[in-house]
Amino acid sequence: MPARPKPKPAPAPEVLARLRAAFPGADCSLDHADAFQLLVSTILSAQCTDARVNAVTPALFRRLPTPAAMAAAGPELEELIRSTGFFNAKARSLRGACRAIVEEHGGTVPRTMEALNALPGVGRKTANVVLGNAFGSPDGVVVDTHVGRLARRLGWSGATDPEKVERDLNALLPHAEWVFAGHALILHGRRTCTSRAPRCSGCLLEEICPKVGVAPAAKPGAGRRAAPEARTPDAARAGRRR
Ligand code: SF4
Repeated sequence: MPARPKPKPAPAPEVLARLRAAFPGADCSLDHADAFQLLVSTILSAQCTDARVNAVTPALFRRLPTPAAMAAAGPELEELIRSTGFFNAKARSLRGACRAIVEEHGGTVPRTMEALNALPGVGRKTANVVLGNAFGSPDGVVVDTHVGRLARRLGWSGATDPEKVERDLNALLPHAEWVFAGHALILHGRRTCTSRAPRCSGCLLEEICPKVGVAPAAKPGAGRRAAPEARTPDAARAGRRR
């Protein structure tokens, strides 16, 4: 059987223009006053909604306002962040990261990918959130589950590993668009290009998106009800995460 032709990737400039028109104010949805608060909020946002994190952090930062205070916190820390889930692991990450900030960086959140990525519990995604939104100098596009899924469906990356997806996006998109692209793709992924039931009909990218890995029934004009996306690679991954 002849090999299937490779789908044409969605044109990045046009995708960004449409996303900018749809989400002109796309911005970080984690409330923060500085890099320390954003780092903490991003660690807490793992497997948790931003709204829940934003509900927890005012009291957290009132009680433990500095890296030194958080590094030395007792069980109160676990209590303050309990409702964000996985609170024992998150408390470990927060204490470890804050201790390293105090001992190795004079109590100030470092401004480089290398130093941020070396903090306990801080991966490239979290580091890029802080670098891009608190310091205005991202080292790459923030790749979470939404951005990874969108990158594959748009034909921008064939990778599943977030760091490989990030490399593909960094090569494809202009540096000046990295922060916006992360925010806008997350919003579009949450609202329209969802994991299980992408709403291709009516999607603002419909006619320029190759819809890689999207089940034919989820594409417009397929003539039958959208089948569960469980047969697509993305849905299979989502199923494994549950
Ligand atoms: S909803 Fe469909 S058309 Fe829109 S970006 Fe996702 S896969 Fe592409």
